[in-house]
Amino acid sequence: MMTVGFIGLGNMGGPMAANLAKAGYRVFGYDLHWDAQERLTEAGGVAAATVAEAVRDAEVVVSMLPAGKHVRGVYTGADGVIANAPKGALLIDSSTIDVDSARAVAEAARAAGLLMVDAPVSGGVGGATAGTLTFMVGGEQEAFDRAKPVLSAMGKNIIHAGGAGTGQAAKICNNMILGISMVAVSEAFVLAERLGLDAQKLFDIASTSSGQCWSLTSYCPVPGPVATSPANRDYQPGFAAQMMLKDLKLAQEAAQSAGAATPLGAQAAALYALFCNAGHADMDFSGIVKYLRGDA
Ligand code: NAD
Repeated sequence: MMTVGFIGLGNMGGPMAANLAKAGYRVFGYDLHWDAQERLTEAGGVAAATVAEAVRDAEVVVSMLPAGKHVRGVYTGADGVIANAPKGALLIDSSTIDVDSARAVAEAARAAGLLMVDAPVSGGVGGATAGTLTFMVGGEQEAFDRAKPVLSAMGKNIIHAGGAGTGQAAKICNNMILGISMVAVSEAFVLAERLGLDAQKLFDIASTSSGQCWSLTSYCPVPGPVATSPANRDYQPGFAAQMMLKDLKLAQEAAQSAGAATPLGAQAAALYALFCNAGHADMDFSGIVKYLRGDA
């Protein structure tokens, strides 16, 4: 039975760790919140008192933390993962964080003789619970090959994106497309309303024309055309606007550091910041249509 140390047992990490326990891994988990640790115990795992204790006997370490500063804090330093994991352990960070932090921590692991991958996910809490997440993995081939069976216990699609940091790069590039396209689709529905074009008619035409995209056909921001859209449940998330803003900001940081021109990504980030600051941070990100319409 393989031993996994799991750090960060929140909305995503909790069900991911539970799926590892269900698949037969011995899971030692650590979180700052005791109730998160208790849920792991109920799911068949073991609560550890510190990061060091969680990873001491681990063959694989998985982390699911809020942001880059948490990942740097948990992995580096005398009490951290890198100093306390056994020689030969594989480290997997599945948090969505900035590319620079991902590469810095992977380099610290490499310097200590440990293999590491960044493996952010798509699929949300529903996918984490069902074990159907998509993992975008950055790191050496050997590390990917070792990570794949562990990730398969938590997800359905496991894709090797390239070297260290490219999993995070894939995640923020994808979500930048999503943020921009949701604004574009929302603008089109607002314009259609002003021009007297019925929303269902616009949907029927654009979804079979060149305007077709996921934000339109799978996640339509107005009520009616797509039954499963958050628009039909008053924009309950789903994917909260503040999470979209976090990812758009990460894309902007990365674009600045890499010297890439992303003017529409910058506009989308600015719009989502206004939307969140107007009190809608917890609304689904497709609620941006209400903001553009002038009624949010
Ligand atoms: P969350 O806030 O529910 O969970 C994070 C957990 O990390 C918390 O329980 C917190 O107590 C713990 N934590 C923070 N610092 C710690 C430390 N030093 N030591 C131990 N535990 C610590 O967040 P989440 O929704 O589970 O998201 C986690 C990551 O997954 C984020 O990077 C997020 O962007 C990404 N993500 C989330 C979703 C989603 O739908 N929630 C989807 C895709 C990706």
